[in-house]
Amino acid sequence: MRQQDMPLLILANAGNYREKRRFYALKDALLESFGALQGYDLQIIEDLCWNCDGAGCRRCVGGVWNRRRVYLLRFRLHGRIFHRPVPILPQDLRGEEPCEKIHGYIRHPQVDSHRAQAAAMRLLYRYDRKEWAKILRNRLLGWLRQRWLSIGYRWRRWRWHLPSIRKSKSPEIPF
Ligand SMILES: [Zn+2]
Repeated sequence: MRQQDMPLLILANAGNYREKRRFYALKDALLESFGALQGYDLQIIEDLCWNCDGAGCRRCVGGVWNRRRVYLLRFRLHGRIFHRPVPILPQDLRGEEPCEKIHGYIRHPQVDSHRAQAAAMRLLYRYDRKEWAKILRNRLLGWLRQRWLSIGYRWRRWRWHLPSIRKSKSPEIPF
């Protein structure tokens, strides 16, 4: 992956938009192909108990309802660390200590979701042209379906008015 595409990757990674899943698939592929694996981080996500609000009760353990551990592979790409969540650690990382323990969710800087989406589409265009074309085709089909539905709706509404128009042509009305 070219270094000048890094701002696109960072922007697309931070935003929330409809094609985020497709972006994640591309990001994973880019990290696997161009990144260097450097250990892993352990993310610990604790959901507070709603019953006692974290004070601790019979239904939970010390105010925590659920504790999830997520393994995040660390990839270095053009001097930056990116994470890739995996359900189990690869063989050669088992028994190794995590580089970092991350408590809670990873926060990204707030970015404009339209700009992030545009960045993701540019990356897809450059590195996964097939997926890019698929997204465009789906958008076009969605747009056409939308147009078709609205034309159908107008047609039905017009048909519905027809009898009343005919009825109004009674002899009392002079036209
Ligand atoms: Zn509780």
